[in-house]
Amino acid sequence: MSRFLAERYASLEAYTPGEQPTDMKYIKLNTNESPFPPSPAVIRAISEESVRALRLYPDPECGALKAALAEHFGFEKRNIFVSNGSDDILNFSFMAFCDGKKCGVAFPEISYGFYQVYADLYGVDAKKIPLASDFSVRAEDYLNVGRTVVIANPNAPTGIALSKNEIERIVASNPDHIVLIDEAYVDFGAESAVELVHKYDNLLVVRTYSKSYSLAGGRLGFAIGSEALIDDLNRIKYSTNPYNVNRLTLLAGVAAMEEHDYYMNHCRTIEANRAYTTDALTALGFEVLPSRANFVFARSPRIGGEQLYLELKRRGILVRHFKTESIREFNRITIGTLDEMKSLVAAVEEILTATGAND
Ligand SMILES: *Cc1c(COP(=O)(O)O)cnc(C)c1O
Repeated sequence: MSRFLAERYASLEAYTPGEQPTDMKYIKLNTNESPFPPSPAVIRAISEESVRALRLYPDPECGALKAALAEHFGFEKRNIFVSNGSDDILNFSFMAFCDGKKCGVAFPEISYGFYQVYADLYGVDAKKIPLASDFSVRAEDYLNVGRTVVIANPNAPTGIALSKNEIERIVASNPDHIVLIDEAYVDFGAESAVELVHKYDNLLVVRTYSKSYSLAGGRLGFAIGSEALIDDLNRIKYSTNPYNVNRLTLLAGVAAMEEHDYYMNHCRTIEANRAYTTDALTALGFEVLPSRANFVFARSPRIGGEQLYLELKRRGILVRHFKTESIREFNRITIGTLDEMKSLVAAVEEILTATGAND
């Protein structure tokens, strides 16, 4: 820290992203990326011509992409907000909808780590609501909370999802507060709350192209909400960085929506590979939480979470381990191709044998 850093950030604890190592080639099952490339139309969209056009600023309204998303989801362009990854939208939402003086925020105690970082960044009081003993989010705990509510659905890193009905109960019981549903993983078999935006003006649904649309490196996210909420987000965007989605990513986003089936087919493949991984790890004695996401969260009574993470890394397989006390025996394992998952299972089996944990 320099002596110039604003005092209000002196104790800020930043988010720690998953490792993106460059030292060797790993089987990368640690940051929930897609193992599949973007669709053919996306690859074609990044043409020489589009690269030449980079001398020009992108469309700050993201009009073409909003039109494609509006049509796909059955909304108007004015209900869509587009930004540089969904983290950007979460950031803007904490800025816009959590007021240190008027109301704090509530989110699950075990969830996406960025929620706490944003709360700290903006000095917002955060109520962290414990999970149930089976690691699920209990909808009842979020009724009438009197705060902005932020829930990842499916939750991360557990992968467990709430139903659309449960989300609706939460939204309906908090009419004077925003309920933000972070649907980063919804395409892998959970129920979306998007349709409820037609009915509730306090619901904001946040989505990303990073997981189910194979575009983590493009940085693209969007939100669907009432026109007034989208206006609020635009107010923040135009007060910080109006050109926050670059030209190439906008083209990629439009092209991806033209080949929606390509992505949904890959999601079904991921679901099948998730079932394979769940069964194989269960057979090895693991407890695997019921996931609706492109990862599983698993622990073994035979080997500690951190030890398994380190042993896998030594064998060229990266998974994500969190040191938080209540989940330190778990690892979060991204679902990749079937070959990758077979390599993972074989490595786990070998580790259990080599460490004598298999006796
Ligand atoms: C990956 C993830 C995001 C961030 O997505 P980007 O669009 O890449 O910024 C947001 N929320 C959750 C729960 C995630 O897991």
